[in-house]
Amino acid sequence: MADCLFCKIIAGDIPSAKVYEDEYCYAFRDIAPQAPTHILVVSKEHVQNVKEAAELSDAALAAIIRAIGKIAEQEKLEKGFRVVTNCGPDACQSVNHLHFHILGGRQMADQMA
Ligand code: AMP
Repeated sequence: MADCLFCKIIAGDIPSAKVYEDEYCYAFRDIAPQAPTHILVVSKEHVQNVKEAAELSDAALAAIIRAIGKIAEQEKLEKGFRVVTNCGPDACQSVNHLHFHILGGRQMADQMA
């Protein structure tokens, strides 16, 4: 999509610290990390958020979930990690391209919000 930050990152037009890529998703380090490990897993196909994720193929949806597990292993998050996806203004979604945050490397807060 022409004016989408994450589409530009996937295309390589904006630099990113890549940690993983496959046919369906691309993962890179968040520019403003909120935990020692903070990675964004982004669908290669542009959909706005998890509400629109039904438009993706089953293969793409499965690949994204599998990628999260692979990245957690790669990043040695044996003690656990949190996966977050913000959807819409109440959730403070700031980039309207489906992505999952992987947060780890420290004890997460007991409260999620
Ligand atoms: P959200 O607020 O859930 O939409 O998450 C968007 C995330 O993208 C935020 O955590 C930002 O820090 C992150 N972000 C914005 N621009 C970049 C960039 N150029 N490279 C890496 N992460 C970015």
